[in-house]
Amino acid sequence: MSDLAEFADSLDGELFSPDSPGYDAIRRPVNVAYREVRPRLVVRCLSVSDVVAAIRYATATGDRIAPRGGGHCFSGRSSTHRIVLDLSGLDGISVAAGGIATIGAGAQLGPVYAGLHAYGRTLPAGCGPTVGITGLTLGGGIGLLGRKHGLTCDRLVGVQIVLPDGSVVDCDDDHEPDLFWGLRGAGGGQFGVVTSLRFDTVPEPMTTRIEAHWSDVALEELVSAWQAWAPDAPDELTVNLSLVSEPGASVQATLFGASTLEEGPTCELLREFIDQDSAIELRAGLPYSQLKSTFADPREVPESALRIRSEFFSHSISRSTLASLLTQLGEPRTTGRRQMSFTAMGGAYNRVAEGATAFAHRGERFLLEHIAEPADPWVDSSWATAHADSSGRVYLNFPDPALDDWAAAYHAGNYPRLTDIKKAYDPHRFFDFPQAI
Ligand SMILES: Cc1cc2nc3c(=O)[nH]c(=O)nc-3n(C[C@H](O)[C@H](O)[C@H](O)COP(=O)(O)OP(=O)(O)OC[C@H]3O[C@@H](n4cnc5c(N)ncnc54)[C@H](O)[C@@H]3O)c2cc1C
Repeated sequence: MSDLAEFADSLDGELFSPDSPGYDAIRRPVNVAYREVRPRLVVRCLSVSDVVAAIRYATATGDRIAPRGGGHCFSGRSSTHRIVLDLSGLDGISVAAGGIATIGAGAQLGPVYAGLHAYGRTLPAGCGPTVGITGLTLGGGIGLLGRKHGLTCDRLVGVQIVLPDGSVVDCDDDHEPDLFWGLRGAGGGQFGVVTSLRFDTVPEPMTTRIEAHWSDVALEELVSAWQAWAPDAPDELTVNLSLVSEPGASVQATLFGASTLEEGPTCELLREFIDQDSAIELRAGLPYSQLKSTFADPREVPESALRIRSEFFSHSISRSTLASLLTQLGEPRTTGRRQMSFTAMGGAYNRVAEGATAFAHRGERFLLEHIAEPADPWVDSSWATAHADSSGRVYLNFPDPALDDWAAAYHAGNYPRLTDIKKAYDPHRFFDFPQAI
């Protein structure tokens, strides 16, 4: 089908071009840097057959498509001047007996947590309420229950996907197992357009919310203590650390996290690494979905474009590297917010073999992000300083166009198997973008 009017007539959903009414109301990329990448066509899909029709139309016209879920890709991979498939209309959530949830590919995390809460279930998934479940899951999915239950993709038991030839495939461990393996960590938009995901959910726990702030703490000691303790803490506890430097102010440290233990035992465990006098705010008795909604993510609604570079660490950062990182973070300047975020790994993330899913990073202690405005050279200098002590691995959901050897950094030893899967399922590279497999 190459005729546009015929294509539009065949859809359950809608087709938008830049001059159609409603074009500006489509789900836009979150990162300001990609807001002005205006697609030639946007297909708002309401059914699996809309996705099939869009792929067939693009193939017949020699065009390309970019699927868009939550629109959060840091490298703008769901933005294109060509055709965007807006999957926001495929957002159903249902839970069957035994806790198996079927979630539409366009669902966002806020509604996913709320929808599962109604059944007393949840998923170990990420923070931002508008992050798309599909982009998150296809690249892994790190969150506050991950040290206990693993990555979001570790709970995936089946995927429905439309392949570049227009065929609709239901894959799992027994059907197209290689494809299913690749969909658990190889990243979004690599092999086809996912239309729905099936998850083995977990019972929603009651949680204790953890938060502490310091403006005049000894940072080197705090980070050293955190990196020695948080990755080895009991699985029930995930505590992350964020350092923010605003011009003309001292660096602010924030500790935030979740525990599935009561307030007393949570407090006792935290005292293993924070001194007795620190003011830690604990709020117990929150269903996990409610705890999630209380944590604002500064990247969720950025006022200006942000650049993020990150890496995993399988060992602690040395004292000398840390001292240099902290000096650079807080160096005197007149503009530009800078942030270093430390996310604890370990626990259940690392109890899965490196080759068991496409997500290869199963021996890491923590993830460190460097976040600032794109013009601030600090992101590169801070990343380069930390890189000296890193494992050289990078989380695919924080894609980094500046990497020299992206295949090794994102996929490590899983890359050869992924290239075979790409050749089998997308032999003509219908899905292609910088750093695609
Ligand atoms: C504010 C914010 C908070 C975040 N928090 C976390 C967190 O807590 N934990 C974590 O692990 N990550 C987090 N991330 C990173 C996040 O996991 C990635 O940005 C992820 O790719 C977002 O998915 P999306 O659907 O929102 O984005 P999109 O930009 O829509 O999609 C991302 C990629 O997946 C592809 N894709 C989307 N839908 C489909 C589909 N149906 N089929 C095939 N390919 C598809 C896109 O083409 C693109 O390549 C966060 C990012 C932001 C901006």
